[in-house]
Formats: sequence, C-alpha cells, structure tokens
Amino acid sequence: MKIINPATEQIISEVEVDSPEVIQSVWEVLADGQRRWAKISMRERLKAIERFYELLDQQQDDLAHTLTSEMGKPLNQAKGEVQGARSRISWFLEHAEKYLADEWIEQEAGNGQMIRWDPLGVVGNISAWNYPYLVGVNVFIPALLAGNSVMYKPSEYATLTGLKIEELLHQAGIPRNVFQMVTGGKEAGEAMLDLPLDGYFFTGSNRTGQYIYERVAKKMVPCQMELGGKDPLYVSADNKNIAAVAQAAAEGAFYNAGQSCCAVERIYVHHSLYEAFTEAFVAETKTFKIGDPLAEDTFIGPLARKAQVEFLQKQVGDAVIKGAEILAGEERWRDKGYYFIPTVLGDVTHSMEIMTEESFGPIIGIQAVKDDAEAIELMQDTQYGLTAAVYADQWKSAEPILRQMRTGTVYWNCCDRLRPGLPWSGRQHSGIGTTLSYLGVRSFAQPKAFHLNGIWT
Ligand code: NAD
Repeated sequence: MKIINPATEQIISEVEVDSPEVIQSVWEVLADGQRRWAKISMRERLKAIERFYELLDQQQDDLAHTLTSEMGKPLNQAKGEVQGARSRISWFLEHAEKYLADEWIEQEAGNGQMIRWDPLGVVGNISAWNYPYLVGVNVFIPALLAGNSVMYKPSEYATLTGLKIEELLHQAGIPRNVFQMVTGGKEAGEAMLDLPLDGYFFTGSNRTGQYIYERVAKKMVPCQMELGGKDPLYVSADNKNIAAVAQAAAEGAFYNAGQSCCAVERIYVHHSLYEAFTEAFVAETKTFKIGDPLAEDTFIGPLARKAQVEFLQKQVGDAVIKGAEILAGEERWRDKGYYFIPTVLGDVTHSMEIMTEESFGPIIGIQAVKDDAEAIELMQDTQYGLTAAVYADQWKSAEPILRQMRTGTVYWNCCDRLRPGLPWSGRQHSGIGTTLSYLGVRSFAQPKAFHLNGIWT
C-alpha cells in the first residue's frame, strides 16, 4: 500500500498489507495473550498505560510530523491532538479502576449481591483517519485496562500513525500478544469481520458502519458504532457579541479542514442577526491561513483524501444550482495537493445536499430562520444525531431548544468538543454505544451478577 502525502501528492512510504491468513494468525496470538492479560493486576496494566502516556509526550514532535505528512492535518493541530489524547489517557488512568472494580449491591451476612466486570475477550477496533490518536485512545486504552486484547486496524489514511501507536504501546510494556495492529484498508477490515472476535468497535462513516453492524449481528457480540453527523449550530436572537459567536462558529466549522465528526456542518441564524453574523463569519473565515501543513501558522491544510475534493465541489455545485450564494471560497487552489478553500454559502435551504448530507470538509451553509421554532424544526430535520449547539446569552433561551435535540451531545455557547468525563455517543444514524465517561469504560467489559448465599469473608 502506498502512503501519499496529501499536501504534495508524493508517495512517502510503502507498507505491506496484512493478508486474511496473517490476520487470522494475529487473532490466535491475541486470544492466547488475552487469557494471561486478564489475570494481570490492574496496577500492572495502569503502569504500562502510564508509560505510553509519557512516551506520547516525549515523542510528540515526531508523532505529529508523521500524522501531518500522511493525512495533512496542520502540524500545530497534530501536536494538539497528541496532547488531547494524553489528557484523555490521564482521565482513564485516574478513573478506570474504580469503574471496573467489584460493585456491591447488598453486603449483609449470608446475603451478598455483587457485580463484577469481566473483559469481553479479543476486541477489534476498526478506526478512522481524521483523529487517529483521539478516536483510537477512546477505544484501546479502556479496552486494555478492562483486560481485553486488541486487534487495532487504523484507517489506511493513518497507517504510519497506527504503526507508531503500536510501537509505543509495546515499548510501554503492553505485551505483543495483547495489542496488535492490522495493516490495510477495506479488505483487512473485512478479514476482521470474518473472525470470531468478542466485540467490534468501529469509528467511521455511516455507510461502512451500517454494513459492519449487519455483518456482526449474527455473532451476537457487542458492536459499537461511532459514526458521522450533520451537526447544527443555531445563533438565536439572544446574542449581543455576534463577532465572538461568528469566530467560535467558524473555528468549529473549519478546524482540521472540517474533517471532524462533530464539526459544525450547518448554521441557522435568527433573521434579525443574519446579516451581521454572515459578515463576521466570512471575515473570520478569510483570516484562516491555508497552505503547507508543516508551517507553524497554517490553519487549513489539504484534505486527507483526493476523492473528497470532488465530493465537496459537487455539494457546492448542487447548492448553487438551487439558488445558494457563495459568500467565500470562490477562488480555487492552484498548487499541488488536495486543497479546498473554505467555502461559505448563504441563501441555503434543505433542498440542498449541503444542509442534509455530511460534508466532512471546509464548506458550510448559513440559513436565516424566523424564530426558535423554525430553528428547532430544521435542526431536527436529519437522520443524524451526534451534536447540536445553541449560542444564546441566557441559559433560559438555550435550554428549551437543547432539551428537544435528539443528539448524544448538546452545547451551549461552545461547539466541536469532547470531554473525557462525559459520554460520547451518537443517536440514530450517528451511532450506537458509548465511549468516554464511566459508561465508555464499561463498554469494554461485561457485567457478571454474583448471588452469594453463604459466608464469603
Ligand atoms: P470509513 O467508513 O471510510 O472507514 C473507516 C474504517 O473502516 C477504515 O479503517 C476503513 O479501512 C474500514 N473499512 C472500510 N470498509 C470496510 C469494510 N467493508 N469492512 C470493514 N472495514 C471497512 O470512514 P473514514 O473516512 O475513515 O472516517 C470518516 C467518517 O468517520 C466520517 O463520517 C466521520 O464523521 C466519522 N467519524 C466519527 C467519529 C465519532 O466519534 N462519531 C469520529 C471520527 C470520525
């Protein structure tokens, strides 16, 4: 498999893809390793993860450079991602043990009721490229701490990063028969689906997610999905500092070139503020430095995948034919690389794909609404359910709207963010199951109910 730098379109490396036979033998090794790993104390497991946490910091610059070279994320954002992953790991290091400890429900003499959290076994993690560290640690850190072994398949667009993660985990003391990376794209993922793994944890597109969910169904094992979104942001009439709101919204839409699952994907603005907001939003967008992702001051690098350039052009074309106005982004990038200039569209409606289908790139539509009721109706006009944001000066303006959202996460005066103590989950077509928080620790364990009839101490 050729690894291409999306900024230069040059081949930077070639790696060997794992065949189904190799992947089968990796599973055999991991099944053996898991039985031993489950018997190792939580303290030992925590120690290894703590060393991984330190290694990420020591090698931050090298790791960020690799990530930038293979998927185009600006270097500063790549460093930010490594540090973001460390802060999640730190949360797991502090909290995982208590959420996986034996839980007494009744503890009277002769009558004990207890829940014990058993590992699942060998779990498969099929992952995405847009935040390989963040979406990776959401899964493999709690999975390892809970006593599972992990077959990890990073996206083919984050292969070199996946190899680094594997190397550092082994260096940190996670045994080779407890964590193994599988190299490859769709075919390697398919080979994992053919194996009798004890749980499947997927991060990626809705289309692949639905396919995997159906394939895994017959196995009757946990199958968790973190999928895409079409996340709305609403600017209500209750906003005085419109410049600050526009600045936050533009960053939420265009950070990582819009390639975030919880990126702001569509914006609704109360009609009284529409003009002021779009003007400030466009002005902010035009300040973003686009170019070489290795340059310190670049905010927008190339897209990770060539095909996405055409996909975004089609969404913009569809909107323009149906009456949208291009407010920013008409000019095209002429140099090499999969660049797409941040594009802002006004006068959009829900007849346009840009307002209904995930874009996953630096394009955004802004629509005026007459009141909160119309905003709610349009925000809900989707099959996705990842996040929704409301900007309003007062909580009492935002809360009734957020309460009605059918999404796993809602934001008041912020957007495009996660916190490790809170559950990360999508509803409807955005996913099934939870990572992060105590719920996301227990996603990698199964409860066993103990009924104790006798004296146990
Ligand atoms: P993708 O669905 O194309 O690929 C994801 C993974 O699935 C890759 O590792 C790929 O090799 C593998 N794969 C592809 N076809 C397969 C098959 N038939 N069988 C088994 N495995 C297969 O998604 P992507 O482009 O890597 O990621 C972008 C998507 O991920 C976006 O939709 C984004 O919103 C979503 N995402 C969601 C979250 C979240 O937390 N909800 C986080 C990051 C990304």
